[in-house]
Amino acid sequence: MSPPDAQGADLRAELLATALATSAARLNIGSSGNASARTRGGMLITPSGLAPESCGAEDMVVVAADGTPTGRFAPSSEWRLHHDLYALRPEAGAIIHAHAPFATALACQRLEIPPFHYMIARFGGHTVRCAAYATFGTQALSDNISVAIEERSACLIANHGMLVFGRNLANALALALEFESLCEQYWRTRQLGEPVLLSDDEMQEVVERFRWYGKPAEQQP
Ligand code: 13P
Ligand code: ZN
Repeated sequence: MSPPDAQGADLRAELLATALATSAARLNIGSSGNASARTRGGMLITPSGLAPESCGAEDMVVVAADGTPTGRFAPSSEWRLHHDLYALRPEAGAIIHAHAPFATALACQRLEIPPFHYMIARFGGHTVRCAAYATFGTQALSDNISVAIEERSACLIANHGMLVFGRNLANALALALEFESLCEQYWRTRQLGEPVLLSDDEMQEVVERFRWYGKPAEQQP
């Protein structure tokens, strides 16, 4: 089968390595969760129902911009939400969906994560929302996620898990790990009672700082 574009073989290996890394970090177990990377012609996505440990790079599935899959296995059942998010957010180069334990615990309470910690702003705003419940793999779930992730790069998914996107696979993985860590911090904080929340002004200042945080020196203000 022909690769999705010139970087096809490398991207397949990188996508599989990312899916394996989500398992190693226990963001996902078995076939839970999925990952994808944008390509010139559409996207490359993990196959449905297979643990990354039992996949080879050649099992990653090509999905064209019109949604047509090509591969030995079916694309992830969540291909619609990956497809819709790439269309909605031009800055997204890779997407990770996981049933990470702390994020999922919050998602099962259908909690919006409030500004309990300044790192919430890393994901684009003053809160991280929780997408309304819909059956996995449906257009309805994709539509609910489109609403929850507006002006954000992460959201919880009710009674299901979490979704994060980044500019490429390495960035998406780093953000997924940071997000799960933040969910764990919120979960632990809630064990002690209600946290003191940051104000809108305090959070807005952090959102501004994150525009250049981690960028090369010449891009700093
Ligand atoms: P897939 O194996 O089809 O990607 O499904 C896993 C999942 O997490 C569904 O939400
Ligand atoms: Zn899932």
